[in-house]
Amino acid sequence: MTVREKLYEGKAKILYATDDPDVLLTYFKDDATAFNAQKRGSIRGKGAINCAITSHLFQKLEAVGIPTHFIRQVGGQEMQVRAVKIVPLEVVVRNIAAGSLCRETGLPVGKVLPQPLVEFYYKNDALGDPLLTRDRLFLLELATPEQVDWLRSQALQINNILSAFFQDCGITLVDFKLEFGLDHQGQLILADEISPDTCRLWDQAEDDPTRRVMDKDRFRHDLGDVESAYQQVLQRVLSSR
Ligand code: UDP
Repeated sequence: MTVREKLYEGKAKILYATDDPDVLLTYFKDDATAFNAQKRGSIRGKGAINCAITSHLFQKLEAVGIPTHFIRQVGGQEMQVRAVKIVPLEVVVRNIAAGSLCRETGLPVGKVLPQPLVEFYYKNDALGDPLLTRDRLFLLELATPEQVDWLRSQALQINNILSAFFQDCGITLVDFKLEFGLDHQGQLILADEISPDTCRLWDQAEDDPTRRVMDKDRFRHDLGDVESAYQQVLQRVLSSR
């Protein structure tokens, strides 16, 4: 497959066209950003690690009937994906309070939520990705009521699958962000990535609130050992069932 022009360069990935209009190539970069790109850096080996983790998790999800844009991993840090039109929504699922939920509600970090919380954020860097109400989501025509219901139920299903999978890895899935796209048939499918950049992952072998962090919070809050934490997630993901 011939790789053609660069279609889009984001903060963590580059999207290329190929000679097949239905197939795109995602290149995972080592670049890392946080706080709406106010903090910038690089995590050595991150592109290859996130590509491998995403590929593994998307295959797991496909195997149990969750449609994704994943086709195959190629090379070290590239993934062939089906072409989709990304819906500008960040669908966040939370099992344990952390991050913006704590900052905005005062809930203590680490509080186990009585049930998973699904939230929709507007994917818009200029506006700082604001939290949406259901009515604002419809006002902006970001999705239909049927699509919102489907996204919510899909996000909860994905949460069940991933929580059980990470549990087997000795990792608690605290929260994560999903993105979906519309394929050529107008069907919504899971897209983007699932990696330590987009999940909060806590090592169950560690009680210490700093040592347990295995995700981008190590970069966000300068906790050190970022590469080795990402590497550890990859090793556990690949050696789990
Ligand atoms: N997240 C993401 N991209 C974003 C915003 C959030 O991948 O643009 C992920 C983040 O890594 C975490 C979850 O979504 O796993 C919830 O993030 P939160 O709203 O707590 O935001 P933060 O505290 O990172 O600002």
